[in-house]
Amino acid sequence: MCNLGHCHPKITQAICEQAATLVHTSNIYHIGRQQELADKLCANSGMENVFFSNSGAEANEAAIKLARLYGNKNGIAKPSIIVMDNSFHGRTLATLSATGNRKVHAGFEPLVSGFVRAPYNNVAAIETIAATNQNIVAILVEPIQGEGGVIVPSEGYLKQLREICDKNNWLLMVDEIQTGIGRTGSFFAFQQDYILPDVVSSAKALGNGIPIGACLTAKKAADLFQPGNHGSTFGGNPLACHTASTVIDVLLEDDLCKRAKNTGKQLVTDFSKQLDSVAGVKEVRGKGMMIGIELDNDCPELVSKALAAGLVINVTAGNIIRLLPPLNLSNDDAATLVEKLSTVICNHLAHANS
Ligand code: PLP
Repeated sequence: MCNLGHCHPKITQAICEQAATLVHTSNIYHIGRQQELADKLCANSGMENVFFSNSGAEANEAAIKLARLYGNKNGIAKPSIIVMDNSFHGRTLATLSATGNRKVHAGFEPLVSGFVRAPYNNVAAIETIAATNQNIVAILVEPIQGEGGVIVPSEGYLKQLREICDKNNWLLMVDEIQTGIGRTGSFFAFQQDYILPDVVSSAKALGNGIPIGACLTAKKAADLFQPGNHGSTFGGNPLACHTASTVIDVLLEDDLCKRAKNTGKQLVTDFSKQLDSVAGVKEVRGKGMMIGIELDNDCPELVSKALAAGLVINVTAGNIIRLLPPLNLSNDDAATLVEKLSTVICNHLAHANS
């Protein structure tokens, strides 16, 4: 997930500059680059504190630990987190257990306990759990399910979850590992619901290819971690932090959130024009530069067919083509993408139906 594309000159320069200065230092010292990045993340999100790690799964591990710490501090014997069906949160033991996909669990049982599953985009189901389970301490949710197939929930979903969390004294923990850093048209996707979560996890595009994870906290979760509660040797190192800091600078200087919103809208419109009437295509959908094209049938072979046509795509959930183009995609490249991929899809469907 390189939101700025490969070898962006300002990112390359930032990596080289920092590599020539200081790549890593012990966290017994104050790390200026880490502070700079934390300040930028908080200024652009309204969050208050940041714990740095090296990946998305680690950022979610921190979130899960925070929820347990919160529950234990509040005298809850078995703190449990509501997680969603069809979700994806990572491949470590706790995050794969949080993930709502049997394929990710298979072979790694016993799973980590303390997760209660609910259908995505279903507020009534959460209210039912609230009424019956006294051990819930948090909700962990993706603003749009990415690996699950670009599932966009109803408008105001996160706002309703925020209200339920407030009413029940739970933490609202938003996994922005795929949706964050401008991808859906705002710095973080939750900002489109005008709410502030207690915990936000970020990674992937944050480093534009350099490994980094961040767990941001606010409100009830802001001061939960105290020195000694959690740690990471390389998390927050100057190289990763200066790179991520420069990613944020470029995102803001080039107004890429707005660009993602507009180009994404255009892509959905143009793909719809090409594909809506094609037999075998179910739906074209998305938000910003997170786009899904759902087919009636599974189509994993489209990944290699598209690659042969010069296009890097993915197929998730079996039958959903997922596109995550760089946010600075030119209009010409966007037009080429629509033309080439529509041809690949039509040829594939014609072959499959013949
Ligand atoms: N959460 C979400 C929503 C993701 O999409 C991913 C990766 O695809 C992760 C967590 C895990 O991130 P990582 O692969 O950096 O551990």
